[in-house]
Amino acid sequence: MTKYIFITGGVVSSLGKGIVAASLGRLLSARGYSVSIQKFDPYINVDPGTMSPFQHGEVFVCDDGAETDLDLGHYERFIDTNLSQINNVTSGSVYQTVINKERKGEYLGATVQMIPHITGEIKSRLIQASKKTNPDILIAEVGGTVGDIEGLPFIESIRQFRSEIGFQNSMSIHVTLLPYLPTSGELKTKPTQHSVNVLRSYGIQPEMLVLRTQVPVSKAEKDKIALFCSVNKDCVIECKDMKSIYEVPLYLEEQKITTQVLKTLGLKDKRANLKPWKEMVEKIKNPKKQITIALAGKYTELNDAYISVVESLKHAGFKNSAKINIKWIASEDIKSMNDVKKHLSDVDGVVVPGGFGVRGIEGKLKVVQYARENNLPYLGLCLGMQCAVIEYARNVAGLKGANSTEFDKNSEYKVVDLMEEQKNIAGYGATMRLGSFPCKVKRGTKAFNAYKSDLIQERHRHRFEFNNEYKQILEENGLVISGTSPDGLLAEIVEYPKNDWHVACQFHPEFKSRPSSPHPLFVGLVETALKRKK
Ligand code: GLN
Repeated sequence: MTKYIFITGGVVSSLGKGIVAASLGRLLSARGYSVSIQKFDPYINVDPGTMSPFQHGEVFVCDDGAETDLDLGHYERFIDTNLSQINNVTSGSVYQTVINKERKGEYLGATVQMIPHITGEIKSRLIQASKKTNPDILIAEVGGTVGDIEGLPFIESIRQFRSEIGFQNSMSIHVTLLPYLPTSGELKTKPTQHSVNVLRSYGIQPEMLVLRTQVPVSKAEKDKIALFCSVNKDCVIECKDMKSIYEVPLYLEEQKITTQVLKTLGLKDKRANLKPWKEMVEKIKNPKKQITIALAGKYTELNDAYISVVESLKHAGFKNSAKINIKWIASEDIKSMNDVKKHLSDVDGVVVPGGFGVRGIEGKLKVVQYARENNLPYLGLCLGMQCAVIEYARNVAGLKGANSTEFDKNSEYKVVDLMEEQKNIAGYGATMRLGSFPCKVKRGTKAFNAYKSDLIQERHRHRFEFNNEYKQILEENGLVISGTSPDGLLAEIVEYPKNDWHVACQFHPEFKSRPSSPHPLFVGLVETALKRKK
């Protein structure tokens, strides 16, 4: 039978609960336990797909096309597993299911209520997630902070669920912040005590506390927290800020988190195989070289908007014992080729990531042009491929004013256009071309060299595509279409063979990169940039 770990957060949001959950997942799986992980997000959006990245950071896409919270990206990267729609539950999706059932008359005349219907649906999602892969342990993280009104149904469902399955089969971990007051040199425990009190007022007594802190927590402070929060002394776990998120599992392991978790759940402690992870962290901590990669995007004020791209660049760096510095460029600040030169003359490579809408597009096109003309290694992701096509059409193939119909419906040369199946779609939620699709890779290309495979699977999230009407003229002018859908109809990868690395793809390789197996296209960019620097 699956055992459950419920992770809640207290005091403030953005505590890194997701990293704690993911790290614990890694530690448990390193002991041979099968682990799955689920995120509960209390907002009313059915999924984050309709939210601006400024609001919620990146939308992470799973193989099955689920548009999910960015924490699922951390989970996949840390646990090295593939998740799906059931691993991300929002209030919106819960209400939607309940309301649809009500409209179908499935409640047989009952008054539909928060308890038992909404809580019942939340509990059923827990069961569905554990049925999917039958893990030894399911970790469920609740987004937001305990005390938020909108999180209450989730907390109440967890309270009920724990009682129903027997308390020996689950545990509650509360992650809180210990603020540090530099003037008095003190760590304050009061907010944690209050937060645990709030959680208890909802009927949940946590078995473990994970304390997020800037400075080490003394034994005396831990004991005090244990006493006032009614938690075993051994279950007050310190989680100090680390330079790299990939150090967190090892730090938590030193604090003996897994031993205590297994003890609480009545599971056997086993020897952990953390050797590969430790070797990776050693490489991360001792880079032999460094390069700077520019990221030219629209949502650069919020780094979380591109978190998978940044992690993928780092992964490719780990492989090469190289530190990757990211230079953020707000593409709308780029108005001229002089501006681009100013921004890009000191970098070793550049990425144009995915995005929506016309703002900043002309700046991105100038970035691509500069990269192509100066043999600066370039990787284009989704919108970054569409920009590469537009730039090539305008500046090499002589199609003046070429554009995507997303940005200019009246362009004379619509080199990127709405996909046929998108033309009659009503509504924006979950209607893009989403999830994993196969792609045929052309031999003898840079893409093939990177993948070393004829057939790959990559995750997508887009409405527009390369317009095949312009295939011939662009190919005649030297652009290579190095990846297509198996029927050959959708261009999936394009490249400019004269440059060392000018490769762009319609899919999102950043969703498949793992620290232990960096994505070939990111490796291609980073290794070319390293060579160029040398
Ligand atoms: N806006 C583009 C499209 O819808 C690109 C999407 C993306 O970069 N994810 O096709």
